[in-house]
Formats: sequence, structure tokens, C-alpha cells
Amino acid sequence: AMEAPPPRRHRARYKGPAAPPWKETYRRRCMERLRSSRAKLLDRYRQAGERPRGPGTLLVQEVMEQEWQTLQAAQESLPALGGTEEALAQMLEDPDELAVLEEIQRELILQEQSVIEEYERSLQFDEECLNAMLDGLDASDKVICPVCRKNNLTVRNHFIFCQCGLYISTQGMTEGKLRSLLENTLTEHSHRCFHNPEFTVTSGMEEEANLLMSCAV
Ligand SMILES: [Zn+2]
Ligand SMILES: [Zn+2]
Repeated sequence: AMEAPPPRRHRARYKGPAAPPWKETYRRRCMERLRSSRAKLLDRYRQAGERPRGPGTLLVQEVMEQEWQTLQAAQESLPALGGTEEALAQMLEDPDELAVLEEIQRELILQEQSVIEEYERSLQFDEECLNAMLDGLDASDKVICPVCRKNNLTVRNHFIFCQCGLYISTQGMTEGKLRSLLENTLTEHSHRCFHNPEFTVTSGMEEEANLLMSCAV
């Protein structure tokens, strides 16, 4: 494209070599393509797994080559791609243009890395949420035996059982009911006393076994 020379010519003297005319268009198109290829990038990242890889090898190289071809098709003055194996860096002979290309590449690599880091953070967040949920389920599914304070109680409709020997006949018992019974008893006790009460099982000759809470004080 023909453009009028900038009116303040003296500025050019301090700016060093001017950026090649393709720079901004090419840079912008590469960025846009990389941004719009987020799903593809993450697919490749997941497929790559633990295999070691250099920065920008997932998509940056491909994006740069594709956009270069697009640009080259529109502007015949740009060097053509010799073959697919030819690196972009080898296409440009002008060291200034090469420097521009490398600058764009660095920017794209940073962008690629930030997409991957964001993905990793969201993965970690999902995992933490899942763990928290499982912990919650775990806690709500089981009741620790108040007598031995080691094993989980087995709670069935007609009995409560623990490996330590605790066995209590009951009716319509569930883990939920038992937990709230224990929690209520402990909460109630804590209103009156600072000590940790102990639980024992009474074993009368005639009556059925009962869980008895007692306090040393
Ligand atoms: Zn027990
Ligand atoms: Zn007490």
C-alpha cells in the first residue's frame, strides 16, 4: 500500500529501523488466531501429557505459519514458504525483520503459556472442589464409635455395631439419626461442663445394652 511519508520526519532518526509494514497486521492476526484456537490448544496440551516439549510447540509455530501464508498470498513481496519443514526464521533474510518475527513469537508463546496456566488453575480448582465434596460425604456417611473413638460404627436398622465389641439393639436407626443423637448429647453436655465425657455400654442382666454417657467430673 502506498502511504504518505510521516509529516514529522525527524522522529524517524531516533527510532532506528522502521518496523516492516506487515508487522502489525501479522501480529494481530496471529494473536487472534491463537485466542480463537483455545480449545484446540488445550486438546493438544492434554494429548501431549507428560511428554517434554519446548515453549510454543503446541500451536504457536502452526499459527505463525498459517498466518504467514495468508499474508503472503495477499502480498507478493513477502518471501514464500519453501516447504512445511522450513522454519519461519529461515524465510527472512533481513535481520530486522527476523527480530520482529521473533518478538511476535515471544508474545505468542507467552499467550500460549498463559492459556495453559489458566487451564491448570481451573483443573486444580475442580479437583479441590471434588475433594471437599468427598470429604463432606465421608464425614456425613460415617459415625466414629464414641466408646473406642477409633472405628466407624456399622449402623443398621436394628442394631449398632463396632469392632471394639459395642453392640446395641435399636429400632429404625440410621447413621444420620445416630449422629444427631450423639451430637445433641455432646452439645448439651458441653453447655454444662468443659470436660470431654466418656461413653460406655451398660450391660444389665435383663435389660438390653444401652449407650451411656458419663463424665469424670
Ligand atoms: Zn468401638
Ligand atoms: Zn462433664
